[in-house]
Amino acid sequence: MADLQALVQQALEAGDRSDHAGIDLAAPPALAAAATAGRDELRCEVLGAWSQSAYRRNDFPMAARLAAEARELGLRSTQRAARAEGLVAWARILWSGGELEEALEVLELALPDATAVGRPRLQVHTFNLLGLVHAELGHLDTSLGHHEQALDAAERAGVADLELLACTNLAGRWLAIGKRHEAAGDPAAAAAAWEQVIALHGRTEALVLRHQLVHGWPHFLTSYAAALLRLGRTQEGLQAFAMHRALADPNPDRHPDRHPDRHPDRTSLPHAALHLARHHQRQGELAAAMAVVTDGLAVATRLGAKMRLAELHLLGSEVAEAQRDFEQALAHHKRFHAWREQCAVDRAAMKSTLLAVRLQTEQALQEAQAQRARARELAQANQNLQAHAQTLAREARLDVLTGLDNRRSVDALLPMWHATAREQRRALHAALLDLDHFKAINDQLGHAVGDDVLRTVGTILRALCREGDLAARYGGEEFVIVWPGADEDSAHGACERLRIAVQAHDWALLRPGLQVTVSIGLADLAHDATAAAGLERVDQALYAAKRQGRNQTVLSRDV
Ligand code: GH3
Ligand code: MG
Ligand code: MG
Repeated sequence: MADLQALVQQALEAGDRSDHAGIDLAAPPALAAAATAGRDELRCEVLGAWSQSAYRRNDFPMAARLAAEARELGLRSTQRAARAEGLVAWARILWSGGELEEALEVLELALPDATAVGRPRLQVHTFNLLGLVHAELGHLDTSLGHHEQALDAAERAGVADLELLACTNLAGRWLAIGKRHEAAGDPAAAAAAWEQVIALHGRTEALVLRHQLVHGWPHFLTSYAAALLRLGRTQEGLQAFAMHRALADPNPDRHPDRHPDRHPDRTSLPHAALHLARHHQRQGELAAAMAVVTDGLAVATRLGAKMRLAELHLLGSEVAEAQRDFEQALAHHKRFHAWREQCAVDRAAMKSTLLAVRLQTEQALQEAQAQRARARELAQANQNLQAHAQTLAREARLDVLTGLDNRRSVDALLPMWHATAREQRRALHAALLDLDHFKAINDQLGHAVGDDVLRTVGTILRALCREGDLAARYGGEEFVIVWPGADEDSAHGACERLRIAVQAHDWALLRPGLQVTVSIGLADLAHDATAAAGLERVDQALYAAKRQGRNQTVLSRDV
């Protein structure tokens, strides 16, 4: 168990700091351990983190595959947490692939589970993604709200990397909101928004220092430096950019003392170059702007950051034009178009990857669902069959006319009871009860009345027998009664009670003047080697009762 937690933690932490080699190593054993433990939610969480890492290193097909696996597993799982983890992982890949509306739908679907299951990391990721998707859809204020919720959740989770991520996203949103106010001609509101970025800086810096968060810090610094410049705090802004540059320097040889796991994320360098170059452009410092653009292009090329390449070339084209260097402006513009086209091609490739993966998982999901439905049907059919078999078995042992047990039941039970009684040296009294002159009743009043008489005798027998006794219709107008464990006196007493009850019954209810009596033979079967031999003696006692004038009980040993 401790092993499982440690393995999962290792994988997730590697993901948090974009340590791709680390998560590649840590994820498979974590997934295997979680599968063994039946912890679907941990499997989905690790798959989601692994998918995110694959995306960050530009392996979109792998990212999509892993996210689809998480979604599939989550939807199949009975655990709410697994479902939410799987859906959020899937939403992230949808967002990455530019499927914003669908990503939003999936996130809304996951949100109730994600907030209910008490998994702070999941909450951070869910709110964070909601913030990112809304930002891209242009809903800046909604986005801001979600990033604030992400920050709260990250604080509760106590995961510093995620807290830094939430602060960074908040800063990015405030920066954009400020720009929107500025464009709308409201400089006061713009300044207030940018001040929010500055306010976040203290908190973020403390967090970074306390936890030595080298990785995510440059991203925050980019927004922070940009906000300073926007606020006219030029010196501080330029200093912050210089610090950012030093921190995110792509040359690791300059930082030999740094832990290899804790290298900063360099992907913010081209973004920072854009901010800084635009600042110089705004100030009319065209040469400086062009120098930053050139520098940014070099880094973006190394990183393969195509969208930034497009943006930087566009900016380069604007700056060159302002410098009246039309040749260079045209060259930049051509490169801008080429990269933008490349981005569109990449988008299309992602889209088709997503479609292919979705198709595969949809098929797998449908198959799994069909299989489950088949299994359920089979189980239901099996249950019906068993119930039917039980009913048949019960019916096979019941006499239809009286509702008492039938001869088959007696033949099954009596030998067992007989064997047990002899083994335990206990008595097993059994009686045969036969209706007197029943043929005459049939003949005079008809078979229907005869049947009613039999049914009524059945009712009387059932009423006078106790739980554990056996009363059965043995054939025609003959009944068997067995009292396991009863001694001779009580069995004989029971026979007499039966006989008198039949005689005393108000048979006139059936037909005026009708009278019914019974003769009974009784014996202790435990004296005989077999139950059949015992019944033979009971029959002889019954025959004696008939002979001696009917309407009486005769004990076998008196015969
Ligand atoms: P005893 O006092 O010697 O027993 O005379 P009995 O007339 O009762 O005996 P007998 O064996 O001569 O006749 C039994 C009759 O029971 C014959 C048969 O028609 C009738 N019987 C058997 N099964 C049923 C049944 O299910 N319904 C009806 N109505 N009659 C039945
Ligand atoms: Mg008979
Ligand atoms: Mg009879």
